[in-house]
Amino acid sequence: MADYDLAIIGGGLNGVSLARDAAGRGLRVILFEQGDLGGAASSATPRLIHGDLSVLERRRFRRVRRALAERRIWLRIAPHLVRPMRFVIPAHSDERPPWLLRAGLYVYDGLTNRGGLPPSATLDITHHPVGNALKRPFGTAFEYSDCVVDDSRLVVLTALDAAEHGAAIRTGARCVRADRTDTWRLAVVDRGHRRTITARALANATGGWTPMVAETVLRQPQPAMAATQMSQIIVPSLFDSENVYVFQNNDGRLIFARPFERDFTLIGTVTHAFTGDPAIVAMPGADVGYLCEAASRYFRERVAPTDVVRTVSGVNPTLASARGRDGTMLFHARRRKAPLLTMFGGDVTTSRLRAEWAVTKLTPFYPMSPPWTAGAALPGGDFAWDRFDTEVDLARDRWRFLSEPEAQRLVGAYGTRLPAVLGEAKTRDELGPVFGPELTGAEVRYLMAREWARFPEDVLWRRSKLGLTMPAADRDALASFMANVM
Ligand SMILES: Cc1cc2nc3c(=O)[nH]c(=O)nc-3n(C[C@H](O)[C@H](O)[C@H](O)COP(=O)(O)OP(=O)(O)OC[C@H]3O[C@@H](n4cnc5c(N)ncnc54)[C@H](O)[C@@H]3O)c2cc1C
Repeated sequence: MADYDLAIIGGGLNGVSLARDAAGRGLRVILFEQGDLGGAASSATPRLIHGDLSVLERRRFRRVRRALAERRIWLRIAPHLVRPMRFVIPAHSDERPPWLLRAGLYVYDGLTNRGGLPPSATLDITHHPVGNALKRPFGTAFEYSDCVVDDSRLVVLTALDAAEHGAAIRTGARCVRADRTDTWRLAVVDRGHRRTITARALANATGGWTPMVAETVLRQPQPAMAATQMSQIIVPSLFDSENVYVFQNNDGRLIFARPFERDFTLIGTVTHAFTGDPAIVAMPGADVGYLCEAASRYFRERVAPTDVVRTVSGVNPTLASARGRDGTMLFHARRRKAPLLTMFGGDVTTSRLRAEWAVTKLTPFYPMSPPWTAGAALPGGDFAWDRFDTEVDLARDRWRFLSEPEAQRLVGAYGTRLPAVLGEAKTRDELGPVFGPELTGAEVRYLMAREWARFPEDVLWRRSKLGLTMPAADRDALASFMANVM
């Protein structure tokens, strides 16, 4: 008998979503990630949970409706990671006419049961706080509801849920060879040790590495693929209102600017074809300039490349024959050839649903229970989304040393699992050393013990974004602390 029912290569959003779905349906699952969970494209997404107005513009109504239905599910199962926001599109005299935007949002509202989110509206932004940060000529804007998400925490908490349903999650474990007969035999270099396991089915969810893994590790034929790089920039905060701006650029694209980690603004996205090694992806200067220019058309304060404090880029493959970013799922099984599932691309919003579809492909091969992930909260997400502020208040009542922004960050990251991080501490001193403004030893220990963090980057850029405000000396202190905990 094989060691596992399903082995998954790749711990990005696609891989962990497969692991969660399959483990909860009773399969014996193991996932191998060569680096950190969400260490590649899955922490470089636009971080939006939305129906996507650019998709609406292409009149793909069914796809928008499906994404909006998923938005409701995310709000229910991950109310700590997914936050509703008002999205604001200023009308621009050179771009889409206001009547078209108004009509589009009317359709957008109608494609979903909004589940308590307010409908779209027209704003006079000369007299509205959202207009304060914008150039003067913008008089009218349209406002609608969508959500933002912490993408890399979504990956980690999905993996945690998979593990709590029995999946084995191995980070720092690179799959170097997979032989296919009526089962799969995988050779893995797992934190320096070579090990071999067998599995009845295999999923290749290696994102930008998909064609390379198919060719050199699995040695299986694959259709022709192309790769796309997607990038965003982070700059010091450009506005203090809690909304996402959607700007129409002069090439017809929609660019967004959203509040990010209290003191910053995230601006994205720009995409272009990519060739090369997905492990070495950097944002070209021309792309930085493009986003700065696009944002400067609207913001009063000019955005210059020298303002950029960090760039974020990821690479994803697309089928050479496909357009857009719907994501691809390929399934192959034959007599005496164990099933192979290949899954890549797709947006964050529909990742849960696509994993559900993919695992369902395996039903002829194993007995398994029905789909379940739409109704089960991710770890820490067992509260109603409109009670987020109440959860923050409760946290501040219990741990009186927490400031409001700190409590917001902690509830946003851990939800109802926060007691497992802070325990019975009465003072900050009881939480161990402090790195930077607010990262405590207790939080770092929790992340290492429960969320597979091994290195400072895992904590500073994926489990949190505290790298943005962490002084270099504290980063070194954190590295020593983590080396001693290991
Ligand atoms: C053109 C384009 C536009 C997009 N636009 C959006 C958008 O608007 N909104 C949105 O939400 N999303 C968008 N995305 C999607 C998003 O970036 C990703 O598709 C999503 O995060 C899923 O990533 P993944 O898990 O497939 O890959 P990744 O996150 O890259 O994960 C793959 C993992 O596999 C691991 N790996 C590779 N080889 C091995 C090996 N041999 N052994 C072990 N591990 C290995 C890597 O280390 C990596 O962590 C877009 C994607 C594309 C292509």
